[in-house]
Amino acid sequence: MNSIIRIAVQKSGRLSDDSLSLIKECGIKFYNGTGKLKSTSTNFPIEFLFLRDDDIPGYVSDGVADLGIVGENELVEKDREVEILKRLGFSKCRLSLAIPKGEHYDDIRYFEGKSLATSYPKILGDYLRSKNINAEIHEISGSVEIAPSIGLAEGICDIVSSGSTLMMNGLKEVEEIFKSEAVLIANKYLSEEKLSIVDRLLFRINAVQKGKSNKYVLLNAPNESLEKIISLIPGMRSPTILPLAQEGWSSVHSVLSEDQFWKNIEELRAAGAEGILVVPIEKMVI
Ligand code: ATP
Ligand code: MG
Repeated sequence: MNSIIRIAVQKSGRLSDDSLSLIKECGIKFYNGTGKLKSTSTNFPIEFLFLRDDDIPGYVSDGVADLGIVGENELVEKDREVEILKRLGFSKCRLSLAIPKGEHYDDIRYFEGKSLATSYPKILGDYLRSKNINAEIHEISGSVEIAPSIGLAEGICDIVSSGSTLMMNGLKEVEEIFKSEAVLIANKYLSEEKLSIVDRLLFRINAVQKGKSNKYVLLNAPNESLEKIISLIPGMRSPTILPLAQEGWSSVHSVLSEDQFWKNIEELRAAGAEGILVVPIEKMVI
């Protein structure tokens, strides 16, 4: 039997574009028309379910989907048994506690006996318990930031990325309680056949992620500084050195992480490197 895996991704929202871009960068083609809730790839044994992110952990733990892409905040909140296969590095955000701007705040004891509105009662409850704070939790499903101004709660616990929504609602962030990014999750009981497809997918995701964090660097250098330059940009095995038409000069090609490039740029220039080009890498298989 030809096996196929099913992956649950967010239908629309802050996870969906990056989830679908990642799949596309893995060379997996599929049709994603508006309103379509299910789609099968034309060139990889994978089927997509487009869902609300709240439902993704449950679908994966129940085995309705084999894989899912979801924010860790949603995953931990839903508390379903699944395996995290990979952290994906996008949809980064944090869950924080916030209170009205004018309030004086020293530490977490501020919240003793207070009321807090949130869409994350489990994460918040666990956090408060770990700090020995008794507070009343009001679960609401959206627009949490207005809770203090309408008298529903004295503080909130919600997702923050830049903090501008808090500010617009007259709130200030006082504690960060959870850091989140998108993760690839899997059902814990996949068949061997499905696992081998998952491995093929992971191989591609790794190649895409490596490519993103690395750059192809080309530069010209006088031959006498080649040794120094090779030590600064050693590359995957070693750099490629090609002679330039001009006597005494070479072109050096290498691969290195972007961070490393910025760390080494001054030394490269000091060693005589010039005409430095940094080129993106689409995929990288080591
Ligand atoms: P759905 O309709 O699927 O239930 P939603 O409204 O619950 O969507 P979104 O606002 O689309 O959720 O956010 C989805 C996930 O993206 C969040 O659970 C969180 O992990 C992450 N996220 C939320 N806000 C941001 C942000 N400002 N920046 C980056 N990531 C974010
Ligand atoms: Mg949701």
